[in-house]
Amino acid sequence: MKFNILSLPGDGIGVEVTREAIKVLNVVAGRYKHEIEIREALLGGIAIQKTGQPFPDETKALALEADAVLMGAVGLPGFEKEPLEKRPEGGLLGIRRAMGVYANLRPVFLFESLLDSSPLKNDLVRGTDMLIVRELLGGLYYGQPKGIEGEYPNERAVNTMVYTRMEIERIAKMAFELARRRRKKVTSVDKENVIDCSRLWRRVVMDVHKDYPDVELQHQLVDSCAMLLITKPKSFDVVLTENMFGDILSDEASVLAGSIGMLPSASIGAQKPNGVFTGLYEPVHGSAPDIAGQNKANPLAAIGSVGAMLEYSFGLKEESAAITRAMETVLKSGDVTADLGGTKTTVEVGDAVCAAL
Ligand code: NAD
Repeated sequence: MKFNILSLPGDGIGVEVTREAIKVLNVVAGRYKHEIEIREALLGGIAIQKTGQPFPDETKALALEADAVLMGAVGLPGFEKEPLEKRPEGGLLGIRRAMGVYANLRPVFLFESLLDSSPLKNDLVRGTDMLIVRELLGGLYYGQPKGIEGEYPNERAVNTMVYTRMEIERIAKMAFELARRRRKKVTSVDKENVIDCSRLWRRVVMDVHKDYPDVELQHQLVDSCAMLLITKPKSFDVVLTENMFGDILSDEASVLAGSIGMLPSASIGAQKPNGVFTGLYEPVHGSAPDIAGQNKANPLAAIGSVGAMLEYSFGLKEESAAITRAMETVLKSGDVTADLGGTKTTVEVGDAVCAAL
């Protein structure tokens, strides 16, 4: 295949881990004879410093042109008092909206060699392999009206949770399609007993399910789902949920994998005319100012994001599996960064993954 990738290293450790991820991407492309072109652009704090905007127009144009975007992390100290659109994090919301990525996929996979890093007992967590599919552009975070009105002590705040049938249908279809490539089970999470949006959510998910009779569908209330993620994590395959519930549950599930430095994430939008899915890939973690510039960051979440990109945007499952195997080899060898109890640097871990490939 031939594809062009936009790299957005961003701030802090984003720069360090993205460098390793790109190194791994080049090795995989060489080994499997794919032709890739990689461009780089500004996003986040570095973009504000150089252009005054966290998501400059040039970055937007390149992102819309690219077959897929690989992002590091954004966040620099010093912008706390600015409004969101002038903060590095404003770049994140800007690029997600511009690319129309409506599905956030978070694989939560526990490598056997990291069993002891998980806060749960080994026998409870061993074999955990789930994919959280979170709706990313609707719900409470975007609904209107919203805001705080009135003066002290009589202020009043309002947020609006809103979903349309179309928004629920497209994310439900994606979850069922992804489940077909996995263990064919979808757990749809809602709060149907209390929230009207959830009642519509459940109705539409059941309608979409009629086209996927080969996939098992279960419904789970969000509160009991939060418990089951901890008590029975391996019972989940694909977890489908709306924006806010997904935000909370995916962070809860992330601790199962041992370190935040291990978790990739993929945000997917529409299929392009050339068959490639619009995709934005990034580690779950932020710019980690406490360890930035020290060559200490774990690059495996960023490297896993390359695997997710190859699988979800380009359908290259074998290449993606090769990256997972190489990561497992490195984890087994114990040549890992300090967050996993090792002494290796970011660059050494990146080199080890390339060597294992
Ligand atoms: P963070 O994820 O940057 O760091 C949390 C803790 O985890 C820190 O102690 C850090 O050292 C550690 N950590 C994170 N990634 C690691 C890695 N790869 N290897 C080893 N240790 C790692 O979260 P935070 O400290 O809350 O936020 C820092 C900045 O990042 C803020 O400006 C925040 O807004 C931003 N942020 C950005 C994103 C993103 O770009 N998607 C996500 C979360 C936070």
